[in-house]
Amino acid sequence: TDELTAAVLDTLAHADAVRRLQVRANADTPEDAVRARALGAQGIGLCRTEHMFLGERRSLVEAMILARDDTARERALAALLPLQREDFTGILTAMDGLPVTIRLIDPPLHEFLPDRTELAVRLARTEHPDPHERELLDAVERTHEQNPMLGLRGVRLGLAVPGLMAMQVRAVAEAVVARLRDGGRPRAEIMIPLVGTVEELRLARAEAERVLAEVAAETGTALDCPIGTMIELPRAALTAGRIAEAADFFSFGTNDLTQTTWGLSRDDAEASFFPLYLDKGVFDVSPFETIDQEGVGKLVELAVQAARTVNPGLETGVCGEHGGDPASIHFFHRAGLDYVSCSPFRLPAARLEAARATLEGTQTSDSR
Ligand code: PEP
Ligand code: MG
Repeated sequence: TDELTAAVLDTLAHADAVRRLQVRANADTPEDAVRARALGAQGIGLCRTEHMFLGERRSLVEAMILARDDTARERALAALLPLQREDFTGILTAMDGLPVTIRLIDPPLHEFLPDRTELAVRLARTEHPDPHERELLDAVERTHEQNPMLGLRGVRLGLAVPGLMAMQVRAVAEAVVARLRDGGRPRAEIMIPLVGTVEELRLARAEAERVLAEVAAETGTALDCPIGTMIELPRAALTAGRIAEAADFFSFGTNDLTQTTWGLSRDDAEASFFPLYLDKGVFDVSPFETIDQEGVGKLVELAVQAARTVNPGLETGVCGEHGGDPASIHFFHRAGLDYVSCSPFRLPAARLEAARATLEGTQTSDSR
């Protein structure tokens, strides 16, 4: 009813006036960005770019990753560039004036390449196999990994495939220029995934800065694009003080941080032995759902403190699933993060919970 809607909107407005934590959304399409904005998102905390490489673009990605020579790879990257530019222009348009954190590609490799067994079986059954398929199988075997989630992902892939990072950064930069020319206020930020050491971030950052400067010079446009990193490996959290020297912002990837801190597979744990564990009382709740304050949470606190010592203005947020979980939001508030980022449909609850966390904090300090 209208009355109910008015009451809910009023409550949310109160919550927004009270809360200290900002609330952003995880969104990778213009449609999701529009929805997120309507639900109160103050920006996009995580725009995952890997889905943009699936579907019809898959063959280009295969060509890029498996290319035997530079020319083939460069051709694939050149074909991907305008597509990526369109992706980013759409999202920056939907989020005009608000920050959009674009994360460079972070796929486990196997999600992009043809299935090794299927391909092998198909080839074995064909009398005159397509030479291209043969080559493809060779290449897939060369890049096969036993544990793709712990393999050539994130910044590792970006540094391993020449031109990949440059293509994505150029697409971001060109999208920003296009928006500026249209009178928009694009606020793109570039985020590097799965960093484990400051050296990786320095290498990725140097490449990103080189491309940003190139596009700025070509177009005569000043480009102000913060470059930050995900903190999603225990080693990154433990060396956050050093990593903060090379980052404009941190975003905690608590999905991977939970996986690697616990040694629990994100994709398998909840389906396989979790139910058994829940019955035995080992967990009250899945650590993938609610932040585990004694383990993963400690790493977050440690990293925030170390980073702020080095770089007091460093912006910090969380973009793992925990960013939309009520109990975890209270924890992130206490840990002093600047924002949580969650899926659009969790935004209203996150706004309320962030306000409750602020009020709770006020009450504790009053009673002291
Ligand atoms: C994370 O690891 O928490 C994260 C946000 O990244 P992704 O889920 O894409 O690995
Ligand atoms: Mg991750």
